[in-house]
Order: sequence, then structure tokens, then C-alpha cells
Amino acid sequence: MSTLQKGKLSIQTGNILPVIKKWLYSEKEIYMRELVSNAFDAITKLRKVSLHEDIFGADDQDFAIDIHIDREKGILTIEDNGIGMTAEEIQKYISQIAFSGAEEFVKKYEQKDGHGIIGHFGLGFYSAFMVAKRVEIDTRSYKPDAEAAYWTSEGGEEYESGPGSRTKRGTEIRLHMDDESKSHLDKLEVTELVRKYCDFLAVPVRVDGSQVNRKDALWSKQPNQVQKEEYVEFYKYLFPHQGDPLFHIHLNVDHPFRLQGILYFPRMLHELDVNKNGVRIFCRNIFVSDEAQEILPKYLTMLQGVVDLPDLPLNVSRSYVQTDPEIRKIASHITKKVADRLNEEFTKNRTQYEQIWREIGPFVKYAMLSDEKFYDQAKASVLFEIAGQENKFCTIEEYQLQNKERAQEKIYYASDLIQQAGPMQMLKEQGIEAVYLPQVIDTHFIQFLESKGIGVHFTRVDAELAEHIVDAGASSKIVDPDAKSSEDRVRELFTKALANPKVTIRIESLKNDQVPALILLPEFMRRMSEMAAVYKMQDAKMGEEHTLVLNLKHPLIQALSRPGILAGEGPSKQERVARAIYGLARLSQGAVQPEEIGKFTGETYELLASVI
Ligand code: ADP
Repeated sequence: MSTLQKGKLSIQTGNILPVIKKWLYSEKEIYMRELVSNAFDAITKLRKVSLHEDIFGADDQDFAIDIHIDREKGILTIEDNGIGMTAEEIQKYISQIAFSGAEEFVKKYEQKDGHGIIGHFGLGFYSAFMVAKRVEIDTRSYKPDAEAAYWTSEGGEEYESGPGSRTKRGTEIRLHMDDESKSHLDKLEVTELVRKYCDFLAVPVRVDGSQVNRKDALWSKQPNQVQKEEYVEFYKYLFPHQGDPLFHIHLNVDHPFRLQGILYFPRMLHELDVNKNGVRIFCRNIFVSDEAQEILPKYLTMLQGVVDLPDLPLNVSRSYVQTDPEIRKIASHITKKVADRLNEEFTKNRTQYEQIWREIGPFVKYAMLSDEKFYDQAKASVLFEIAGQENKFCTIEEYQLQNKERAQEKIYYASDLIQQAGPMQMLKEQGIEAVYLPQVIDTHFIQFLESKGIGVHFTRVDAELAEHIVDAGASSKIVDPDAKSSEDRVRELFTKALANPKVTIRIESLKNDQVPALILLPEFMRRMSEMAAVYKMQDAKMGEEHTLVLNLKHPLIQALSRPGILAGEGPSKQERVARAIYGLARLSQGAVQPEEIGKFTGETYELLASVI
């Protein structure tokens, strides 16, 4: 084209293009996001002006973005039928990238934390040079009297411009791909990129003639116009192979900031996975990032879904983002919505809420531990599963009401239904329920609740003997002719047999006569050792100091309490029985260390051999 004029890009800050090119090298695919969103903006602008202006090609209102791949020539073209540009507009918006933000941009670049900001400096178009050695623009403005205009540059400081050849309204951006980016001249590759960034753009995006984007951004609809099935279908589209979500929250805010989105409570059958990255951030339907934890508190990112922030200040540096007051407002708004939704489910659909509690429980607890405000907002909707009673749940208040007389401020809990079956059963016989708290997070959560000063204290079922399971009436103090009570004798025997000063021996008459012995580990001690285990500190074994409770109501202990124990060589048979009782009590609590097991089983076999 002989009529082309040469020009120099006017940039004050030296040559910015190599900077752009190098900067986002690892993320060069975002050129697609930038160019397609420019095309979409061009269409949106045209839609607006067409309402009150005559436009060129008015019959062409079938808005679409077309991407063509010419493998042979090595050209990728992005074409739209939007507003187009006049020669003056090219000059103004493309050539004179004398944008005020240039210097700022370079500064950000130097700080290496300008991720995602390229579009916000009016530089989106120039991301084309991350993949193209030469870029051409062929465009025809919507203005009826405008001429087609052309512009090309090889990414240096120079460009050429002149009349264009385009006969239709709109813009065609031709990328002459550089050698490293030739892989982008592939339909699958391009389709994938379009789907990643532009799946929910409200116009069709076609790759070599076939539409590849979904178009429908469910979150931008009014919540009352969306059916439940559509939410489920949308979830499955976003997160395939994950089954149905538990429930969703449709966010739709205009004031004091704009925010739309849908958050889903996913099925969470296992302990927390806080690194799930389930929330995707969009900006006006264009995918920005799935690293939502840079914007939202971590606990919110355990949910899944999309959040669209049309005014997202992406030019704020990453480290600053979470403390940015605007962003914090967004986060606290979402948090409030989540709490409202939980409360709503709890009050309106208690039965269904109970059914999903096991799955949402870890989230709720984690969120409460992370954010006191969330605790305040949702505390009424915290449930506890009743131990040993599948699918029965209660709140703290309900537990207290039920067990008030017997348990006072205590909430008894079990963390292992098998290991703690004995003490749990004993409480149950006395009409005291325990709640079931099996997860690691529960240790933290109960401590957190206790710190709230709401008059609750959690005690594991095997931490102490509840007053009600001891038969206070039974006397064991009857002294026999040796001036010893049964209690004395049992104590003596066990003290000698165990010869372990870390075990405190306590003799009681329990109301239950099925259990001969119980190990008690004070709540405080056990919490310490659990903490130690969480932080992988050395001495994480079950607390060494513990109490052995011997039940005088049990025939075995009674038998051992009779006078006339024969003292012979080595440990007496009674001592061996005492050791076996202790060993079994430890074993049933899962507290035997691997190195003790060999010794214990050996001794027990010997004992068995001696009775035959
Ligand atoms: P931004 O989009 O952030 O303003 P860009 O560098 O991406 O920055 O684009 C600069 C300007 O060029 C746009 O604001 C727009 O006026 C114009 N432009 C870019 N692409 C197109 C297009 N496909 N159709 C019409 N105008 C465009």
C-alpha cells in the first residue's frame, strides 16, 4: 500500500512494547481476552449509539465476534461488527498510546506485581504483540460518511497507517503470529482460549465459523427469573463430575459497589480442602482469575462458583488487594449473604439443613474461626450431631435445654464412637447425651466457642466421671479383718502391678456393672496433646499422665478385691490380671502405643496359658 504514512508511536516512557512483551510472557494467552473484550466493547458501544444515531450497515445487527485461523499464512484474525474506528480514532486510541498511565504502568512492571492490570492501562490492544510479530488493523467506523482505515506495526516504535479495505462496519485485527506462538494457529487451542476467557460473553464468539462460547452468564440474570434446575445445570457446567451442589446463593448488588455472582455449597464429604480454588473471578463476564483468594477471604473460596466484579480495581497491587477497603467491603458483603442464607435454610428447612450439615459443617466452622463477624451472623445455625444417633442434631441451646439438670454448662462430646463407646454408654444410661465431634477442626472450634463466654464447656466423654454415673450410695469402705477395705486392696494390687507413677488409680462404684475399668484423660491434658499432634510436636502421644478408674461393681474387680492374694515368686496371677485389665482399657481407648502392643499381647497369652 503506497499511500501508507509512517508514524512513530508517541510514548513518553521509552519503548514500552518490549516491556509488555516480556512482562506477561508466561501469560501471553491473555491477548485473546484483551482482543475479544475490545471487540465486545465495540459491539456494546455500537448498540448504544444505534439507539439515537444513524449507523452504517444498520441491517447488520447480528452481532458476533469471528476468529479465523489461516495456518498457511500464519495469521489469526479477530473480527467484530461493532462500532469500528475512523482514521482519527486509530490515531487517537491506538497510535498515541500517550496514555497517562504509561509511566505508572512501567513502575508497576518494575514492582513485578502488576498482574492482570494490562487492560486497565488502556494497553489491552498492545498485548497482541506478545504473540504477533506484526499486527494489522482494518476497520470501518459506524459513522455513515467514514472511510475504512488501516494501521499496522511490527511492535517497535513505528507504525504505518492509511486507507483501509474493509467494506463492512467493524474491525478486523490481524495477528501475524511469531514463531513461538504458532501453536495458537490451531482450532482446538483457540477454542480452548476463548472458552477460558470469554465463555460467558453475551455475543457469539465463533472460531472458523462455529460458535464456541456458551454466552449465558446465569449470574447476570435477576435471581427471581432463574429456576432451581438452571442453577444446578450451571454448576455442573462449571464444575463437571462433582454431583449436585448442596445449595446456592445468588449475589446481586448495585450499591455501594457492583457485584454479581452465584456461590454454591459443594458436597464436602471429607475434611476441609481450603486450597480448592472454587471461586472464579470475572469482570463484566470475562474471566479474570481463579485465584479468588487474592480478593476473597480464604474460607469463602472453599465455596464454588463465580463472582463478577465489574469495577474490580485490578490495578491495585496483589498484596494490597485484601486490605483494600473496597475489596474488604465486597468480602464482608458476601460473607453476610452466606450467613443469611445459612440462617434461612436453618429456619425454613431444618430437616434438609440437618441432612447437609455434615458437609457444610466444616466450612461453617472454618469460616467462623477465620471471621468473628461471620460467627456472629451465623451462630444460631450451628448444629451438633448427637453421638451414636445417626442424623439427630441439636443446637447448643437445645443440648443445654435437654441435658441441663444433669450436665449443667457441660457439653459432653465423643470424637470416636468406637473407642469412647464405654463412657458414652454410661452417660447415656444416666440420660446424658453426647455430641459427636470427630474432626480435627472441632478441637479448635470448641475452644473457640468456649472463648466466646456463652457459658458452654466441652468435655470429652472420657475426660472425667460424670457425677451421675457414680453410684454414690455404694460403700466400699467396709474394713475387713486385715483392716483393709476392698478399695484399699484393689488400689494396692494395681499400684504394684502397674508400677507406673503416671497412672493415678481411682476406685469407684459405677452405676454400670459391665465395664471393669476406664481410662480418663483430663480434658485439658488431652487438648494439649491434640494440639501437639496438630503442630507435629514431638510428644504427641496420648498424654502420659492419666487416671485408671476401677469399677468395684464389676465382678472382675470385685474378685480382685477379696483378701487372700498369694504373694509368690514374680508377679502374682492377680497382678497379671490387673495388668491385663489396664491393657484392655488402654486398648479400647486406642491409646496403646505400637511398642507396647507386643509386650501386652505376650503377657496376656501367658496369662491365658496359666488358666488352662
Ligand atoms: P482499552 O480497551 O483498555 O481502552 P485498548 O488498548 O485495548 O485499551 O484499546 C484502546 C482503544 O482502542 C479502545 O478504548 C477503543 O477505543 C479502541 N479499540 C480497540 N479495539 C477496538 C475494536 N475492536 N473496535 C473498536 N475500537 C477498538
